[in-house]
Amino acid sequence: MDDIVALCRRRGFIFQSSEIYGGINGFWDYGPLGADLKRNLKNAWWTDIVQEELIGPDGKPIDMVGLDTTIIMHPKVWEASGHLAGFADPMRKCPKCGHFVRADQLWDLLATSSAWFDSLLQAFTPVTGQIDTPHLMAWAKGKGKKLAPNLALVRNPEVTLAWLATRINGQPDAPPDMKELTRYIATEQLHATGLQEPCPRCGGPLTDPAPFKLMFESHAGIEQNEDSKVYLRPETAQGIFVNFWNVVDTSRVKVPFGIAQQGKAFRNEVTPRNFTFRSREFEQMEIEFFIHPSTANEWYTFWRDSRYAWWQSIGLAGANLQLREHEKDELAHYAKTGAGTSDIEYRFPFTAPGFGELEGVAHRADFDLKAHATACGKGDKLKYFDQDLQVRLQNEGKSKDEINERSRYFPHVIEPSAGADRGTLALLCEAYTPDPSRASGVYMKFHPRMAPIKAAVFPLVNKDGMPEVAEKLYRELRKKWNVQFDEKQSIGKRYARMDEAGTPYCFTIDGDTLAGGTVTVRHRDTQQQERIALDSVSQFLRDRVQ
Ligand code: ATP
Repeated sequence: MDDIVALCRRRGFIFQSSEIYGGINGFWDYGPLGADLKRNLKNAWWTDIVQEELIGPDGKPIDMVGLDTTIIMHPKVWEASGHLAGFADPMRKCPKCGHFVRADQLWDLLATSSAWFDSLLQAFTPVTGQIDTPHLMAWAKGKGKKLAPNLALVRNPEVTLAWLATRINGQPDAPPDMKELTRYIATEQLHATGLQEPCPRCGGPLTDPAPFKLMFESHAGIEQNEDSKVYLRPETAQGIFVNFWNVVDTSRVKVPFGIAQQGKAFRNEVTPRNFTFRSREFEQMEIEFFIHPSTANEWYTFWRDSRYAWWQSIGLAGANLQLREHEKDELAHYAKTGAGTSDIEYRFPFTAPGFGELEGVAHRADFDLKAHATACGKGDKLKYFDQDLQVRLQNEGKSKDEINERSRYFPHVIEPSAGADRGTLALLCEAYTPDPSRASGVYMKFHPRMAPIKAAVFPLVNKDGMPEVAEKLYRELRKKWNVQFDEKQSIGKRYARMDEAGTPYCFTIDGDTLAGGTVTVRHRDTQQQERIALDSVSQFLRDRVQ
């Protein structure tokens, strides 16, 4: 991964945000090559989802429309969606070293990644119900001082061990278990504080858990108070849900249909890490596909499989991509009884041999539409009226009441929700191909449709009319594609630069071009060269990069 990050920095794919000030954790900028790569990914998604004809499981072309909603929305949106109440991790802080710990991970962290806890475990045997005072004292005054300077046992071993001895002697039949022992050695003033729990890093007493809100807050307007508080959206989906009724009223869509949106989302992630994988500002590409509840299984399967196939089609075709169906106990509350949830996952170098989520596909039932209908006070009035279903029920001779009842409902939703930054990162990781036989030592094997630069045009030498012909070709090609012109340095160095940028084709103008009207094409992956007619270059590219 370090090599990929270094190449991204060196060649201008991705930079740290505000790098000249030392960077800001969890924020990334896309350089010239990265911006084009990410745009190609987003454009392919938009073209394939919204513009191209996609045939659904019912054999009919899918109805899909686009939307572009605001980042800041009415705060009630986040109340209704459950984000205000639930979109938080319970966090504990160590006032001594400033370390934050997710409350539900404390015991795991102590067991697996706390140097002092590990060392302490070797100094005494907790199961006997006896405390090995001399060993603990020795540890507290020796290794403990270095590893856990803020642990009560280290700061004040006599008092701490006295509390522990009182506990053990007071209930000889019920010796403390490992967790209780740990709490005792983390406690200096039992009566004042009660039993405390230690920081995995320095042993200091952790604060009580408090929700760490993942939504960024701001204020709209001049006054800054509770009433003016607004949030940066943590997902683009809610912009789609609250516009569902506007879209139905103003376009000719009928259930089943989808709304697609791309846009920024913000999450104040506790520990942003793994390059752009977990950022605090990122971009999503989301579809909410609205269906009749009885068709959830077929539409869920359709979207799951077609989204998986889509990622394969843009170059993630190998064993690094997998589709993983969620186990029942992993499912979000709204998806428990639904058709299913699955993740499309990529094996990133930092997750290997495991995988990390690129896109989630979930049957969200009618949770969101119902929540917004209820929260805005309109309730059942916002049920969708299914005219086709009404006609069908009439033809089946159903009673008026039954027809009224059944033809109004809250549609269910299948949500394929993908990350543009994680997608771009997966494309970069998949493309990165070390090759010691090349001058660059590495090349980026992007799918031609994703490659930021589609082709380069070189004059072999800077004389004999070659630059003029090359420039003319370059000008013609760049009307349609991102193409580069390079006349500097040796041809080998120029190929090397293009290999690192992942440019699939290089056209060289040489003596034969002037004499015979042909150019050489050099293929990035095989390094093979062939000659084609100068006037067929445009067609050559059109056949390969779109
Ligand atoms: P994770 O479990 O990895 O935090 P999530 O399940 O919370 O992800 P969703 O809420 O389903 O993610 O968001 C949909 C998509 O948005 C994800 O599949 C991912 O591609 C992207 N995404 C979510 N959080 C981040 C982030 N912090 N940085 C970059 N992309 C993200």
